[in-house]
Amino acid sequence: MNMRRRTTFPFLILVLFFSQSKLWAWGPVGHDVVALIAESRLNPEAKSQIAAILGTDGNLEEIANCADWIKYAKQDVSCGNFTLPPMPETASWHFVDIPINSQDPAGSIASACGPDGQCSIDQIESHLQILSDSSASLEQRQQALMFVTHLVGDLHQPLHNATEILPDGTSDRGGNLKEMSFESGGKTNLHALWDDLIEPASESKDMDPESLAQTLEGEISDQDAAIWSQASLADMALEGYEIAENQIYPDYHAPGGDVVTSSYENEMRPIVNERLEKAGVRLAALLNKAFKPAPALVPNSSILGSANQELPKIKKMIIPTLGRAW
Ligand SMILES: [Zn+2]
Repeated sequence: MNMRRRTTFPFLILVLFFSQSKLWAWGPVGHDVVALIAESRLNPEAKSQIAAILGTDGNLEEIANCADWIKYAKQDVSCGNFTLPPMPETASWHFVDIPINSQDPAGSIASACGPDGQCSIDQIESHLQILSDSSASLEQRQQALMFVTHLVGDLHQPLHNATEILPDGTSDRGGNLKEMSFESGGKTNLHALWDDLIEPASESKDMDPESLAQTLEGEISDQDAAIWSQASLADMALEGYEIAENQIYPDYHAPGGDVVTSSYENEMRPIVNERLEKAGVRLAALLNKAFKPAPALVPNSSILGSANQELPKIKKMIIPTLGRAW
């Protein structure tokens, strides 16, 4: 870090803090809201397995932000009732950067994830498999639940699913390199704005995750929830990609699009709210499915045969398999 950056960095932090301290979406409050909506939709089996993982006084909200902390931590981090080491290598797990204006966005997901699955979609999928695996250790299940809870939230931030390839061939890193300024003063960037966009800066009280979760929960119909729960992880990413491609980037490139006005926030807030609602509903659906008990080993009458006939060995046939259908 050179001298210039050393002197300007704290100033920028202050500017960002004072200009955005009330604005959180996929910052801590947003992830809390997603966890709270999901928590209220868990089935009894998922609740009991989560209690076994987090402790009976544990909950999803207290682990919802740990995945962000361990990206930057220099020492062990306390997460609910367990501890996590620093994991800077997991930074790419929080997004899947599909280049906007792709001819084949769905087909771009595989290359955005790379062969090692270093993206949100693949990591959610593999951690769900750990949650479904009764032979996984408690430590593995704690980490898996922590990652799934957080990354499903990230998967619903549109700029975690899209990036713009600049004329020189480099990426704008999901809008991180697009500087924006607030009408009221202070600077941010397009990605950070969307991480934090939730409440007008003019509102004086801090946003309380529980009241926001309650408000959003009240807007979710059973029919919406049923439809939203059908989406695959790729569907979820592509929804966000389309919002970025059709709305966020075109707005940025429109004249004056790099200035955040209250009308911008008013226009985008319904989108943000629906993304948080969908994330909560889908997180619950994924966990309910992952924690589904294996079918009981009760043979039906057709394989029972006569009373003294040996039962076929069926155990191997009913191990649940989890594929990309998530
Ligand atoms: Zn994240």
